[in-house]
Amino acid sequence: MKDVLKTLSNELENRDCFFVFPSEVVASFWRKKALSLTRRKAVRSERFQSWDTFKENVFSRKREEKPVNRRIRLLFTASLLEKNNPHNPIFSYLINPEYADSSKAFLKHISSILPSLGTPSVREILEGNSSALNLEEGQRRDLLLILNEYRKFLKENSLFEPSYEKPDLNRLEGKYYIFFPDVIEDFLEFQSEIKNCPFIKVIETGEAPLAKEQKTLSSGGEKGRGGITFFGNVKKEIRWVVNKLRGLLDGGVRPQQIAITVSEEEVLNLLEAQCSLYGIPLDIRKGRSLTQYPAGRLFPSLSACHASDFSMSALKNLLLNRHLPWKNRQPGEELILFGIKYFCSEGAQWWIHNLRRMGEKKIEVYFRKLSERINGLFKAGDFKELKKEVDKFLSAFLDTDKWDEKSLRILQTSLDLLNELISDNEYTGEQKIADPFGLWLKAIEERIYVEKPDTAGIPVYGYRVSAGVYPDYHFITGATHQFTTVTVDRFPFFREDQKKGTTMERSDFSDDFLRLYSLSGKNLYFTCSGEMSSGAQLPPGYFVSRDMVFPYRDEDNLYGKDLFATEERIWLEYEGGKRSEENNPCFSPVQKEGFLNIEKTAFRQKDFDLTRETIVEDHLNEIILSRLSEEEGNLTISHSAFELFRSCPFAYLLSTALEVEEQEWNVFYYDPRIVGQLTHIILRELFNKIKELHGFFLPGSLEEYMETLEQVTSECFTEWERKKPFFISPIWTDVRKKTMEALNVFLKAEKEAFPDWKVFALEKTISLMDEEEKLKLTGRIDRISERDGQKALIDYKKRNPCKRDVLGKELSPEEQKNHEPPTGFLFEIPPQTLQLPFYIYISEARAERIHRASYYGVDDGKYVHIFDDTGSGGWADRDKIDTLVSYTREKIYEMSSKIRNGDYRTLAQNDSCESCSFRRICRNKFMLRLK
Ligand code: SF4
Repeated sequence: MKDVLKTLSNELENRDCFFVFPSEVVASFWRKKALSLTRRKAVRSERFQSWDTFKENVFSRKREEKPVNRRIRLLFTASLLEKNNPHNPIFSYLINPEYADSSKAFLKHISSILPSLGTPSVREILEGNSSALNLEEGQRRDLLLILNEYRKFLKENSLFEPSYEKPDLNRLEGKYYIFFPDVIEDFLEFQSEIKNCPFIKVIETGEAPLAKEQKTLSSGGEKGRGGITFFGNVKKEIRWVVNKLRGLLDGGVRPQQIAITVSEEEVLNLLEAQCSLYGIPLDIRKGRSLTQYPAGRLFPSLSACHASDFSMSALKNLLLNRHLPWKNRQPGEELILFGIKYFCSEGAQWWIHNLRRMGEKKIEVYFRKLSERINGLFKAGDFKELKKEVDKFLSAFLDTDKWDEKSLRILQTSLDLLNELISDNEYTGEQKIADPFGLWLKAIEERIYVEKPDTAGIPVYGYRVSAGVYPDYHFITGATHQFTTVTVDRFPFFREDQKKGTTMERSDFSDDFLRLYSLSGKNLYFTCSGEMSSGAQLPPGYFVSRDMVFPYRDEDNLYGKDLFATEERIWLEYEGGKRSEENNPCFSPVQKEGFLNIEKTAFRQKDFDLTRETIVEDHLNEIILSRLSEEEGNLTISHSAFELFRSCPFAYLLSTALEVEEQEWNVFYYDPRIVGQLTHIILRELFNKIKELHGFFLPGSLEEYMETLEQVTSECFTEWERKKPFFISPIWTDVRKKTMEALNVFLKAEKEAFPDWKVFALEKTISLMDEEEKLKLTGRIDRISERDGQKALIDYKKRNPCKRDVLGKELSPEEQKNHEPPTGFLFEIPPQTLQLPFYIYISEARAERIHRASYYGVDDGKYVHIFDDTGSGGWADRDKIDTLVSYTREKIYEMSSKIRNGDYRTLAQNDSCESCSFRRICRNKFMLRLK
């Protein structure tokens, strides 16, 4: 940088002297820096210009004409592609005529090649000797067609493309210094004119001095220039950078003396997150596409809704986006909940069909209005009409006054782009554009937006634009080989093999940039990591070949000084209220805030923790008990409540007494519960028919039952489709087919397991009252069959439970005998399900002796008999089933007693936690390690 400093010191007083830098960021940096080099209080801003501004000045020969811009190029390209219709395609090489109706996809590519298509060197190839670059005839014809149409368009509209003009250096007044031409991608094209111009002096980037002493430093890059520090992963790297920044700021360095250059988005996001934790202000000058900001995502979301015909996922992205200032969020959420329940994944007509079927008038009106407004955006014939449609959408659904200033600025920039398109299109004679919204969206995506910082902070730049600045401290982070590779292909419309060996070959600026960055700061910190979310990374070849990569070894124990690494110690030293925010001056603002919050919440004396202690307040127990009891005051326990309590009493309390439910926002295409319900209904109806036909299941009538099954299945599906949720057509058709097949298998299994059994009861609700205990047990049995006065309980399942889940594993008689204190039934592994023993208990307590109990697994296609007195065998004999029933009884009364005593304690390590829907609100999974 010596040359820059020397030139500026010498020439700043010369008012006719101008300084040209590769980017506006660097020009602006030196504009400010120059003042500190001299005693001047001010300097004319145009004396420090970027290369692009310099070109505009020397190329704008035709002052009366207007330079073309990106939007106008898009407009021209869109109208040109309109002409490439499938009946009469105008392109034969660039766009395959077979895909002419998809020409829109080439909008971005063709508009991006326009600036280089008419440069003198390319023009010469296209218009001159056809053998140059071995161009194919179709290729040359298509490129010439674009070029000629574009030039005609420019001429008709008094426009000019700056890169098509030869520089008019004679127009220059004064003396010009051009710095760092090695990183200016199109400098070579003008090199000969510039070299011959006596008013211009070119200052090349010097060689970065190699700091051999660097190798002796434990954490390379520590003192200076030349080396790169290599971390294991990007999180460590950013933490190191942030700790360094904190050290500098704490040491009195001003944020403006520091600069950070980030190579890519992941590094920037991590840096932002870490700096906000430490309260380090950043001034992010790395631009992002408008659509990368939450507010800027509105228009792509609308486009996705239209393109997917209002698919569930597109509507969810739009309507559940809490960043958008909805006038009324509720109807949108109701629409999504309806869609989730009714599997609305098949487009607008499917939504309407389902909403009508279910009589949801209000939601239907909302959906129609929403889809009409969104479709209106895409029906707009021109930009003016589009603007009206955008206004209509915004005023119908959003209240932009609720938006914060940042979001409003993003929205306003997007709307400004639409206004600019309107005036550009007027200027160019109202081009016919088939898809104005699509073109506007393209312009929004291409617009790079830099946020205005709220506070003065450390400037953060993107890689490339900051090459050539010279702050006191410069961190170049995420500088991996991949992210510091800079190749420029200015002529993408020629193939690589065609450009080989010519000046048009893709140019590699990677080393030039790294060399310049190696000079861009008094103290430089190059860092990169071996692991990033994009995969394994390597340090740049530039440093590897110079033997200047220094793996990070935590010898200076920087993490030991890290506020967050030492936080654990601070918590352990916490002495109930004595350690307050003032006692911890080393806290970052976020930590202070967190500490104050935890004092009010987790550290506050808890009222109660029902996973660990019982409820002692009688009035609370009474309230809970009343919620769990029927009107007469009897505690009601169903089989499902019983099983839930067994797996976790606290989950039972939340679900049954407090009726806490998790709102499901995920979209599914299939729900096994619906298939299960339908199967139960079909089996009920089938046995009703069998009861009507014969009263018994007659094995000889299997054929007849199969026909009956088909008829019943069809009726049940039709009835279900009238008012119940069902899946999108291919899945639903498949469910229907598979259900039919599965139930045909069932009939064969039934013939083997229950021949000549009478259908005694279907879906029977049974109950048992214990007046003394004020306890009522209830259950619903899928089927009770009877033969020769012997009864069988049958429960249909998706899959049969295994023997161990039904019978458990008992303690040996010896262990039982020696158990202290002696108790009823002890299992080494208790049964997982006690459903049939629960029903047997109720039935037999009502003097209804049960002789057989079976599960039928629809997916397994077979019965399992958990016990069988009728002689066919089963998993358990009568004694064993009596043991299970007694065990069930014991557990029921234990549950009743615990509920009455307010005891919902659960194990800290509960197997059910893994699949529990209360995980997010249950404190049992949190462990606070306090002194
Ligand atoms: S997360 Fe575990 S302890 Fe908490 S309610 Fe669920 S099952 Fe019970």
